[in-house]
Amino acid sequence: MNKSRNKQRKPWIDAAFISMIALLSISLIFLSHSTKSNAKQTTTDNRKPPEISKEESTKESAFPGILIKSEVSNDEYSPYSIQYPQSKVESFNAQIKKYIDEQLGTYLIAMQENKRVGSKTPGELNISFEIFPHTSGSYSFVMITGTYIGGANGYTSFNTIHYHPASGEVIEIDDLFGHEESNLIKLSTLVRDNIKKDPSLKDKVLEDEMLLATEPKWSNFEKFALIEDTLVVYFDEYEIANGAAGAPIIAVPLAELIEQLVAPYKPKVPVDSLHKTPVEAVSGDEDVEEDEQSNETEVQVDEQTGNTKKKQVALTFDDGPDPKVTPKILATLAKYDAKATFFMLGSRVEFYPEIAGDVLEAGHELGNHTWTHANLTNMASDAIIEEVSRTNNIIEQSTGSAPTVFRPPYGAFNDDMLNILSLPVVLWDVDTLDWKHRDATQLLASVKSSVHDGSTILMHDIHLSTAQGLESVLAYLTSEGYTFVTVSELD
Ligand code: ZN
Repeated sequence: MNKSRNKQRKPWIDAAFISMIALLSISLIFLSHSTKSNAKQTTTDNRKPPEISKEESTKESAFPGILIKSEVSNDEYSPYSIQYPQSKVESFNAQIKKYIDEQLGTYLIAMQENKRVGSKTPGELNISFEIFPHTSGSYSFVMITGTYIGGANGYTSFNTIHYHPASGEVIEIDDLFGHEESNLIKLSTLVRDNIKKDPSLKDKVLEDEMLLATEPKWSNFEKFALIEDTLVVYFDEYEIANGAAGAPIIAVPLAELIEQLVAPYKPKVPVDSLHKTPVEAVSGDEDVEEDEQSNETEVQVDEQTGNTKKKQVALTFDDGPDPKVTPKILATLAKYDAKATFFMLGSRVEFYPEIAGDVLEAGHELGNHTWTHANLTNMASDAIIEEVSRTNNIIEQSTGSAPTVFRPPYGAFNDDMLNILSLPVVLWDVDTLDWKHRDATQLLASVKSSVHDGSTILMHDIHLSTAQGLESVLAYLTSEGYTFVTVSELD
């Protein structure tokens, strides 16, 4: 009967499973590599410590009370990309930051040691997260960390945090069950049952380890998420199953725990279980802000001027959108009637769809910069496709327009990747290194030293210093006779 039970799962359970499994396989594939074939990388050493702005508004976020922060280092030896959630509650932020600092610290120390012993192989740290709103008003965050520090394989690990933005409360697994020992025993039993009937774990479970890791102790189930009406429990690689199973994700329908769960987490009766999440409810109500400087005219590039053709430059902004920086950049560009190209991360567009929409509405070109800012040369083709298509979809959903160009994170690409991608790949020739110096005055200096007719300039719309330095760049280039075009308009 076990088989038929699995087949009778409701479609949404399958959907949740599929998305989690897709996620997992991406993360795993991401780091199962040993070679990096002719990856092109740019930029140099030294990084600035992350800057976290405390006064940032969460108004524009599609997830009320939560914003997404990004830290990207384009260092060629120890690159990393970290996306993490922040709220207005210090204890939640501190918990997330502690996890990130540990992961980043471990990675950087390992890479330093590799360098010391003469290894030339670049590493990669990629931390991303998925956010699952629950009908209780709380969110489950699943942090996915991929680390590659040399050798044959990388390592993927999960961390979860469950948080209620309205109350500011971080919810632990025992809170769901009223701290009752009898409920814990039931949870333990159900997790074991679901491990046994999980077809992806067939013949892979390490019996003794599994029994130990699912003993009725709250700490055994601390990595969990509430996804729709399922309690999802995460285990590390090798914790309950052999390596072929990867890091197991076990789903227990909340309906099986209806007696044990406390009020806000009890599943509703099946009849009225049409899932309306707080996100859906709120995003419809969010006030639509009209862009005030909408009197921009099309940039007159070209033929009209005949043989006195103007010099062109393509300004590009990566890693956004950002609720604070992107609007400032849009305002400055509008002032100079300048068109630019924004290479967006899907994970950030998911949080700030309205800002992505504002970029398009202001007449700029939209580019795809992947979902998690992973080095795609470290990934298998289906994982690359997932990174790119998921980002295409969220951009199109949020703005009504699909991206027209693609920029690989870290500028890293190889032939395999180019064969997979359908969008034109756009790199750059002027690197402002704004991510490194974070200095408004240096932006102009780096542009001045290397710009020429037809240049593509790389900047990032997640650093305030870039927004602050942009006006001087636009004023200088204008005085030099340049016009500002999108990368696709560049001759
Ligand atoms: Zn980037």
